Amino acid sequence: MTSTTSPAFTLEPRGLELRFRRVVLSAREWLTRSYVRVRLEGADLAGFASPGADDHLRIFFPDGDPQTAEELRAAPSREYTPLAWGENWLELEFAIHGDPSARTAGIAAAWAATAPLGSIAGIGGPRGSKVLVGRPDAWFLAGDETAVPAIRRFAEAMDADAVGRILVEVTDAAHELAIDAPADVVVEQVHRGDRPAGAALTERLEATPPADRPAGAVFGFIAAEQSIVKPGRALLLDRWQLDADSAIVKGYWKAGETEYHAPH
Ligand SMILES: Cc1cc2nc3c(=O)[nH]c(=O)nc-3n(C[C@H](O)[C@H](O)[C@H](O)COP(=O)(O)OP(=O)(O)OC[C@H]3O[C@@H](n4cnc5c(N)ncnc54)[C@H](O)[C@@H]3O)c2cc1C
Repeated sequence: MTSTTSPAFTLEPRGLELRFRRVVLSAREWLTRSYVRVRLEGADLAGFASPGADDHLRIFFPDGDPQTAEELRAAPSREYTPLAWGENWLELEFAIHGDPSARTAGIAAAWAATAPLGSIAGIGGPRGSKVLVGRPDAWFLAGDETAVPAIRRFAEAMDADAVGRILVEVTDAAHELAIDAPADVVVEQVHRGDRPAGAALTERLEATPPADRPAGAVFGFIAAEQSIVKPGRALLLDRWQLDADSAIVKGYWKAGETEYHAPH
């Protein structure tokens, strides 16, 4: 008998072997004045795996040229989303905040913006994944610059007939980050202007009524500055009544806090 119900999807946890890798900064491409894609290379990247679109790894920023893995592992580190990789390369994208030359940017943003090509970094993880198995009937993805790598990966996983909406919060038109998505997935950039991070996305989420819920099994992903969590949950879990197991709402950073750790 053929079922007429839509195929559902699940988010399945997968453990990964935690490995630590030494890499070299090999290229940098500015996508806007405050957003940069970096390429890391190294033989240690053989076997790198990241099955979940919103996986994160830890990148370590040592001073100079550490000789041992222990030295490298002792360096400050931050969390980033693996965007793309191959046998000996890995690409990450960094939102650049503050003024890197004035050292107000944070260690990761300053490194991504200014470290000389050839600089050494360490990569730990990802140590676990949530893998989307099956096919959502509709997608709803929203985030600021820090969530763009995860959004790009979800968009790449969509099939050509996918439907949905992607909201990206950036400062203004000059900072928009194009996302490649299937034709029936609407990509919309919202501008925060001079307002605090998350303000434009919050406004947009709060203005989204229950009636805008797409039919069927909706996959929701919302990640941005921590203030997004409350309006994100209010939309996906309360007004749209999505199952908490089929939605991801996360603070990826917190204004005023260095190396914020998002609750998992
Ligand atoms: C699961 C996960 C995945 C992530 N993936 C990415 C990714 O792929 N790309 C990416 O760019 N970020 C990503 N982030 C966010 C990133 O880890 C944080 O922005 C991190 O704090 C940046 O480190 P930093 O050293 O530059 O700044 P920190 O030293 O941590 O912070 C210094 C100051 O800068 C502020 N700050 C931090 N981030 C920002 C920001 N984006 N805009 C404005 N102010 C900020 C802090 O509030 C603090 O006041 C991810 C976070 C998580 C939890």
